Amino acid sequence: MTSAYTQDLIKQRDRAAAEVRAAEDELGKLRRRVAELIEERDSARQEADLWHGTAVTAIAKYTYTWAAHQSTILEARRQAARADRILAAAKRGCDDLGAMAHAALTRAEQAETRIAAVRELHQPVDGVDYRRREERVGLACSTCGTPDEYATWWPCPTIRALDGAPEDRP
Ligand SMILES: [Zn+2]
Repeated sequence: MTSAYTQDLIKQRDRAAAEVRAAEDELGKLRRRVAELIEERDSARQEADLWHGTAVTAIAKYTYTWAAHQSTILEARRQAARADRILAAAKRGCDDLGAMAHAALTRAEQAETRIAAVRELHQPVDGVDYRRREERVGLACSTCGTPDEYATWWPCPTIRALDGAPEDRP
């Protein structure tokens, strides 16, 4: 027969054992939770690393594209400026050529008007020449010499010069 004291001791031991088991259970739960949290943390870190890598790659690609774009814009501006300069030079050249052509045409027209005026003065008319003690009759110039006495025979030196004929032609 166990004494009341012993029974009380046994009860105390059983309670303590139950408390130890409960504490061990709780500890086991906490350890599992800690393990889960560590796993979640590692997973989150891996995901973060992945996203970081993706972001870095995207930023690098964007930076490269932007730089290439800027470079293309600069080159296009340089080419446009060059084309503008060439066009301006060509336009100046065209203007100069136009002015030169206009001046040449004006001079040519003036020369033709003057040549026509000279031809108007030197016309073929009937003429006579007594200078060699014999009467010679033929076509003489209306202006050079005197057609009725000392004729200059047609074509006169002035008309021959205008027509490009040799000076010594009779
Ligand atoms: Zn003449």
